[in-house]
Amino acid sequence: IPRNPPPTLHQPELWSDDFNDFICKCLIKDFELRPNVLDLLHHVFIKQIVGREKILQKQLIELIDLNQQIGVIEKTSHMKTQTDAEEVDDLATLEVLDEVVNSELQSRYGRDQIYTYVGDILIAVNPFHKMEIYTPQDTKMYIGAKRTANPPHIFAVADIAYQSMVSYNADQCVVISGESGAGKTESAHLLVQQLTVLGKANNRTLQEKILLVNSLVEAFGNACTVINDNSSRFGKYLEMKFTCGGTVVGAQISEYLLEKSRVIHQAIGERNFHIFYYIYAGLADRKKLAHYKLSDSKTPKYLCNEHIKLGPDIVSNTFYKEQFDAVEQCFKVIGFTLEELGSVYSTLAAILNSGDIEFSPVASEHQTDKSNISNISVLENVASLLCIRSDELQEALTSHCVVARGETIVRPNTVEKAVEVRDAMGKALYGRLFSWIVNRINALLRPDRFILCADDKGLNIGILDIFGFENFKKNSFEQLCINIANEQIQFYFNQHIFAWEQDEYLNEEVDARMIEYEDNRPLLDLFLQKPMGMLSLLDEESRFPQATDQTLVEKFEDNLKTKSFWRPKRVDLGFGIHHYAGKVIYNAAGFLAKNRETLPADIVLLLRSSENELIRKLVTHPLTKTGKVGHQPGEPGDTPSHPRETTNMRTQTVASYFRYSLMDLLSKMVAGQPHFVRCIKPNNDRHANKFDREKVLVQLRYTGILETAKIRRQGYSHRILFANFIKRYYILAFHAHEEPAVTPETCAAILEKAKLENWAMGKTKVFLKYYHIEHLNLMVQQAT
Ligand code: ADP
Ligand code: MG
Repeated sequence: IPRNPPPTLHQPELWSDDFNDFICKCLIKDFELRPNVLDLLHHVFIKQIVGREKILQKQLIELIDLNQQIGVIEKTSHMKTQTDAEEVDDLATLEVLDEVVNSELQSRYGRDQIYTYVGDILIAVNPFHKMEIYTPQDTKMYIGAKRTANPPHIFAVADIAYQSMVSYNADQCVVISGESGAGKTESAHLLVQQLTVLGKANNRTLQEKILLVNSLVEAFGNACTVINDNSSRFGKYLEMKFTCGGTVVGAQISEYLLEKSRVIHQAIGERNFHIFYYIYAGLADRKKLAHYKLSDSKTPKYLCNEHIKLGPDIVSNTFYKEQFDAVEQCFKVIGFTLEELGSVYSTLAAILNSGDIEFSPVASEHQTDKSNISNISVLENVASLLCIRSDELQEALTSHCVVARGETIVRPNTVEKAVEVRDAMGKALYGRLFSWIVNRINALLRPDRFILCADDKGLNIGILDIFGFENFKKNSFEQLCINIANEQIQFYFNQHIFAWEQDEYLNEEVDARMIEYEDNRPLLDLFLQKPMGMLSLLDEESRFPQATDQTLVEKFEDNLKTKSFWRPKRVDLGFGIHHYAGKVIYNAAGFLAKNRETLPADIVLLLRSSENELIRKLVTHPLTKTGKVGHQPGEPGDTPSHPRETTNMRTQTVASYFRYSLMDLLSKMVAGQPHFVRCIKPNNDRHANKFDREKVLVQLRYTGILETAKIRRQGYSHRILFANFIKRYYILAFHAHEEPAVTPETCAAILEKAKLENWAMGKTKVFLKYYHIEHLNLMVQQAT
C-alpha cells in the first residue's frame, strides 16, 4: 500500500471492479507510487465522474509508463537511498501534466522546499516566512558544487552564473520574473549576496557598498501597495563587475520607468515612496523638522491622501526612524558627501511642502480665470528649500508664457492648471532626484580604471528585477509600458528556450520534434514598430497641440489592424490588448499628457537659477543613459532612436525614452549568457503555507514553464562535442589504452554498447537526453 494514500483510495466502494483490479495490479507490481501518481488518482476520484474509469486507467498507464521510461519509478525501486524529494528536484524529468507539475510544486512547498528546477530554470515559490536556508553554511555549500549535489537553491543560480562567467570568459545575465509580490526583489538580493562572496571582494568596504546599493535604491523606489508592502515601483538592472579572474570590482545600476505619479497621488490602501515616511519620522526624531520647514502637527498632504489619515502614526513610528538612520548610513558608506545628503533632504522636503501649496480662483474682468496662492507662507518655505525666489515661484505656478508672433505674452493659470504645474514640478523633481542618486551611485561604484587594465575589460553579471505583468480594474499608460516591457522579456525568454534550441537542431541536422510555442513577436511589432506601432502613433499624436485622448484612440483604431487590438464597446476611451499573459483593457484618459510629461519652461528656468547646486544639476543635466545601442537579434522595428546627450529632456517623450531604454536593456541582456528565475506567488493573502492551486496554475501557464518542461523532456538537453564525449565515455566500449578516432561512429559504438536508445547524432555533437547522462555516468563509475 502506498504511503499517504489519498483519502478516496480508502473507499473502494467508489471504485468499479475493473478499476479496483487495475489499482491492485499496480500495487502488487511493487511500484512505489510516486506523489504525482497518487495525486492523479486523487484528482481522478475527486473531479471525475464514475463511469470514466477506462479513460482514467489509460491516463494512469501512460503516466506510469512515462515515469518508467524516464527512470523515475525505476530509480525509486532500485535506489532506495534517495528520498522522494531529491528525485523530483528537476521537474523536467516528469510527465508534463499541468496538474502534476502543480502538485509537485505543492507537495514540495508543503515541505518548505520552495525551489525547484525545470531544466535549467529555477522556480521559486514565495514562502512568505523567514527561511533558514541562507546561512553562511548554505553559502559555502553552494560554492562550486555540482547542481545535483544540493537541493535547488537561488545560490546555485549565482554559482552557475559565476562559474560560467569565469570558465567561458563571458558576461552573464539573470532574468528574474514574476508578478508583484512573487519574490523577485528578495531573489535579486540573495543573488547579489552570494555573488559578492563568490567574487571574493578582497576589499570589505566594496562588498559592503554593493550590498547597500539595493537598500538605498529601494528606499526611494519602493512603496507599500495593496499587493506588497515593499513593492518596487521601478525596474532595475544591476550589473556586478568582475575582473577576468572573477574578483568583484564594482557595480552599476540602470533604472526603468519609476512610477512618479505616486509622489502626488496614491490609490486606496497604498502609500507614497518609503523615503518620504522615513525622512518625516527621522527628522522629527532629531528635532529637525522645522529646519526643513515641516511640522509634526500638520502632516504633508502627499503623505496622507484622503483615504488614510496617518499624521501622528508617522512621526512616532520607530521603524521609520530606524530606516531613516539606515538610509543615511547607506548614503555615507557608499560615499555621498554630507553636503549632498543635506541637498537630498531639502529636495524631498521641498516636494512635501509643495503639495500643500493651495490655490484659489481670482474673479477677473476677462473671461480667463486667474488663480492666487492662498497660503503664501508655504510657498515661501518651498522657495527657501529650493533656494529660489518665492515671487518668481509664485509667478511660475500661477501664470505661463506664450510666444505669439515673436512676442512673449504672459497668461494667467486657472486653479486647475496651477495645481497641474505644482504636481508636475513635484513629480519631475522626484524623478530626477532618483536618477541623480542612481547616477551618483554608479560613479561611486564604477570599477577603478587601475584595477581593470587594458587587456582586462572585465566581465559582468547582470541581474534584472522588473515588475511583472499588470492587469487592474483600471489600466493606464503606466500599465501599458510595464506590460510592453514584460512582452519584450517574454520574447527574449522564448528566443532562448525555444527558437535558439531549435536552431541548433537545424544546424546540426538533428531530426527533433519541433515544439510549438506562442510567438509574441507580432505583439511586439504592434507596440514598437516604426512608424506604425502604438508608441510611434502615440508620439505622433503627442506632437499635435489639438490632439486629445479621443483622437489618439481613434488613431490607434484606424492604424492597428490586428486581432490583438480591439475597441470594447461601452468604454469611452478604452482599448483592449491581448497580451501573452492575458487580455487587458486600457483606458487612454491622460495618455497624451503622461507621454508629453511637460514641465513648463518657466519652472525649468527658475530651478536653473537655484543657489543649490543639486537643484541646478537636476534641471540642467539630461540624465539620460549613455549605453551602446547596436543591432539586437530579435529586435522588432528598426534600430532605436538614441537620445543624444544634448537631447532636451523636455521635448523627449516618455514613450520614446521608454523605447530607447528597453532596447538598451535588451542589448545588455543579449550580450550575456542568460539564466532564468521564475518567481511564483502561491496565494494572494501573503500567507505562509498556503498554496492556491488555481493561482499557481495560471502563473505556470502564462510564463511558459510547462512548455519549457516539455521541450526539456522531448528535446536533447545535453549536446556534447564528439571529442568531449569520447574522452569521457570511451572506456565503456574500448580498452583504457585505446585511442579511438573522433568520429560519429565511435560515439555511436559507445552509445550502443551502453544500450541506450533515443539519442541523436549531429554534425559535430552527440545529442542526449538528461537521463542518458545519468545512465552513462553511473556506468563509468561502475567501470572504473
Ligand atoms: P516582488 O519584488 O516580486 O514584488 P518581493 O521580493 O518584494 O516581491 O517579495 C514580497 C515579500 O515576500 C517580501 O517582502 C518577503 O516578505 C516575502 N518573500 C519573498 N521571497 C522570500 C524568501 N525567499 N524568503 C522569505 N520571504 C520572502
Ligand atoms: Mg520587487
